[in-house]
Amino acid sequence: MKTLGHWIGNKPHESASGTVGPVWNPATGAQHTQVALASVDEVDAAVAAAKAAYREWSQTSLARRTAFLFRYRALLDAHRDEIAALITAEHGKVHADALGEVARGMEIVELACGIPEKLKGELSTEVSTRVDVSSIRQPVGVVAGISPFNFPAMVPMWMFPLALACGNTFVLKPSEKDPSAAYRLAELAAEAGLPEGVLNVVNGDKVAVDRLLSHPDVAAVSFVGSTPIARHVQAEATAAGKRVQALGGAKNHMLVLPDADLDHAADNAVSAAYGSAGERCMAVSVVVAVGAAGDALVARIAERARALRIGPGTDPASEMGPLITREHRDKVASYVTGAAAQGAEVVVDGTGPVLEGHPECADGFFLGVSLLDKVTPGMAAYDDEIFGPVLSVVRAETYDEALALINSSKWGNGTAVFTRDGGAARRFQLEVEAGMVGVNVPIPVPVGYHSFGGWKQSLFGDLHVYGNDGVQFYTRGKVITTRWPDPEDSGGVNLGFPSN
Ligand code: NAD
Repeated sequence: MKTLGHWIGNKPHESASGTVGPVWNPATGAQHTQVALASVDEVDAAVAAAKAAYREWSQTSLARRTAFLFRYRALLDAHRDEIAALITAEHGKVHADALGEVARGMEIVELACGIPEKLKGELSTEVSTRVDVSSIRQPVGVVAGISPFNFPAMVPMWMFPLALACGNTFVLKPSEKDPSAAYRLAELAAEAGLPEGVLNVVNGDKVAVDRLLSHPDVAAVSFVGSTPIARHVQAEATAAGKRVQALGGAKNHMLVLPDADLDHAADNAVSAAYGSAGERCMAVSVVVAVGAAGDALVARIAERARALRIGPGTDPASEMGPLITREHRDKVASYVTGAAAQGAEVVVDGTGPVLEGHPECADGFFLGVSLLDKVTPGMAAYDDEIFGPVLSVVRAETYDEALALINSSKWGNGTAVFTRDGGAARRFQLEVEAGMVGVNVPIPVPVGYHSFGGWKQSLFGDLHVYGNDGVQFYTRGKVITTRWPDPEDSGGVNLGFPSN
């Protein structure tokens, strides 16, 4: 079986920690790889490599940094299929979806190719007699990135391309559940000519994460994962004096008003709820149906949900693959089996057998799709982030009732409104408490040149990832005040506070 170690200084680094974790092929239930779990010393070695590379990389010209990024983009383009296959083999999502993930990650590499435009400073001349002031942005140093299992290539690409473009060096700690795609991204960066130590990958679990959070040579931490760990990361890393952006979990509501095109709304609800087996932080997990929209919408969603084809991600006929682990699959199923006892109506029950054909997948971590109606706050299916193919429908009488429900959520990642009424959509955009809003768009993941981030317990920190916020996060400001005195006029001694 393949053993995956670390990638430090542009070379494979075999782990000596003595601890490994299993990486499964979720479609077959067989172990795919074993991944090294780093010791503190191994994390320190990766940080030391990044620190040693920092001075030279931060002083490398913008022309050279962008030349690397353009070569990297070309290599990623050439290896799209291979990276997507690695994602499918360890995460389980279908190949077309994995290709979409790679493309969305590459958007940030493309943004990073234009970094000179983003790093232009500001200059004010003659702010006082013969005095000029300029503001510039400089890299922060060694940046650590910690990523979740659900986007094993895209989320790392939200982080390191922009961080490197800004002149930082990087240590990435990918999810130990599906680490191979991130490792391959680092190998390709070396192939594209990235100098040694600029991008390092250390595989591991809590031991590695906690060392990165306390390491004195790590200046900034980008984290994406669940809310409890995001909160931990923010608390520990800020206590250690680092800047932090920690993106957490979600429970995304899709509001459907009675005037919406219900076929369009049902298509979008099904795509956004069950795509990637519901393991997306921007998945729609709650539909809030207002008034007369309710019954007709539930019927339409149920019809579409029952028709979905579930199977291994390698089969082009599959629309939805397995879940990440057996334990997670069983936990997700428990929300469906427990829903009726809590008062919900189980309209589609996905807990029975789902696979047709594919005997090689008999032990895979598959689960069918479920639709729960008449869900209310207080039920576990509503209160928890399930992170699986379970869609809950909550009924509301009015727009105001629906909005109040959405705004009472402890999360505020994405949300969407489906309506033909521009005025209602405009009110919703302004009144809803979430970081990303879709109008007739169910998964409003911003394009690379806008930033991604939620509100409330979906993000701890101030700055969102990528886009202009990403550039701000990976740089720090410096303001330079310059005077070239007239040799004839030194000005003399003046103990007063400088003013204009
Ligand atoms: P997770 O929080 O379990 O793991 C994320 C990372 O944290 C991994 O690298 C993991 O090794 C590390 N980690 C796990 N437990 C830790 C601990 N006790 N101490 C220190 N580090 C620890 O998340 P996951 O299950 O991999 O991913 C799914 C979660 O991520 C969901 O909650 C989803 O909503 C969220 N997510 C959020 C976004 C977003 O943009 N807001 C995007 C993707 C995923």
